[in-house]
Amino acid sequence: MNLQEHISLKPYTTFRIGGNARYFVIAKTEAEIIEAVAFAREHQLPVGLIGAGCNLIIRDDQVIDAVIIKIATQGVSIEGNEVYAEAGVSFSALTAKTHQAGLVGLEWCPSVPASVGGAIRGNAGAFGGETKDLLTSVRVLRDGLVCEIPKDDIEFAYRYSMFKDSENTDIILSGLFTLQPGDVEEARTQVREFIQRKQQNQPVGVACSGCIFQNYDERKITEQKLLNQYPQLVEFNKQGIIPSGYLIEQAGLKGTKVGGVEVSSKHANYIINPNNDATFADVQALITKIQDRVKEVFGVCIKEEAVYLDQYLRYR
Ligand SMILES: Cc1cc2nc3c(=O)[nH]c(=O)nc-3n(C[C@H](O)[C@H](O)[C@H](O)COP(=O)(O)OP(=O)(O)OC[C@H]3O[C@@H](n4cnc5c(N)ncnc54)[C@H](O)[C@@H]3O)c2cc1C
Repeated sequence: MNLQEHISLKPYTTFRIGGNARYFVIAKTEAEIIEAVAFAREHQLPVGLIGAGCNLIIRDDQVIDAVIIKIATQGVSIEGNEVYAEAGVSFSALTAKTHQAGLVGLEWCPSVPASVGGAIRGNAGAFGGETKDLLTSVRVLRDGLVCEIPKDDIEFAYRYSMFKDSENTDIILSGLFTLQPGDVEEARTQVREFIQRKQQNQPVGVACSGCIFQNYDERKITEQKLLNQYPQLVEFNKQGIIPSGYLIEQAGLKGTKVGGVEVSSKHANYIINPNNDATFADVQALITKIQDRVKEVFGVCIKEEAVYLDQYLRYR
C-alpha cells in the first residue's frame, strides 16, 4: 500500500475542487483497500472513499483528517453470461469488455461517468437503464470482513441504495452482473448514440460535478399566476416531479457566476468550474444563490443531490 500524507484531492474529482487529505491511498487491489482500512482503524481515523469522483464536492478550507481511499481496482472477469467487475472499473471500460465478450445490456453505461462502486452506491442510470437492472450481487467489505450481498437485499430505488444510508459503512469491492449475448455492432452503435445525446445537453470537456440538485417532488406548484406564466409546470405536476434544471433555468440563472463557478448554460442543474480555479466557498455561495432565487420565483426549496465527501467520512 502506498500511503501518502497531505495530498490534494482536487485532481481526483471531475469538479477539480478540494483540499488536502491527511492520508491518501490509491488502492489498486482489494488487499490494499483492506490494508488502508486497517491503518485507519489502528489510528482511529475515519475513512472516505473516492470512485471516479464524478459526484463529489470536497471542501478546501481545512485538511480532511481521515484516510481517503481512491478505489482504483481494475479487474473484470467474464465467464459465460456472468460479468464480475471490481469497484474501480469505469463504466466505459466495463461496457467495452462485455462487448468484446459478445455480451450486451450495459449500452447506457458509457454515457454516465462513473466507477462500478460509485454507480452501485447511487444506482446511477440513464436512458431508462439503472445500475441495479443487470446486477446479481455485490461483494463488500463490512466490519473488516468480505461478504456477498444478493441484489434483493440492497434496497435499490431511484438513484438510491442502502449504501447511501447514513449508518452504512460498507465498502463496495465488486459487482456481479448477468448479461445476455447479443448483436455487439448494434450495441456499439447504441453506445455512440447515447453518448452523443448526453453531450448535446450536458457540459462536456469542462470541470463539473454531476447534477447539483435533486429534482423537486415534494408538492405541486399550483399558484395560477405561475401556471399561466410557465405552462410546462402543469405537465410536470401531472408527472409528480419537476426537474430542478427547469426551475433554475426559468428563474433566469443559466450563466450566473460566483467567483470561479457558474451555472452551465447547457444544463442548468450543473455547476461548472471552467478555469479549474474555483473554491468550495464559491460553490456554496452559488448553491445558496440558486436556492434563494428559485424560492423567490417558484416558492419551493430545491435540495442538493451531489455528495459532500466530508459528510460520508466513516469509521469502517
Ligand atoms: C458530466 C456528468 C454527467 C452525469 N450524468 C449522470 C447521469 O446521467 N446519471 C447518473 O445517475 N449520474 C450522472 N452523473 C453523476 C455520476 O456519474 C454518478 O453519481 C456516478 O454514480 C458517480 O460514480 P463515481 O464513481 O464517480 O462516485 P464518486 O463521485 O467517486 O463517489 C460518490 C459517492 O460514492 C461513494 N463511493 C465511491 N466508491 C465507493 C465504493 N467502492 N464503495 C462505497 N462507496 C463508494 C463515495 O464515497 C461518495 O460518497 C453525472 C456526472 C457528471 C460529472
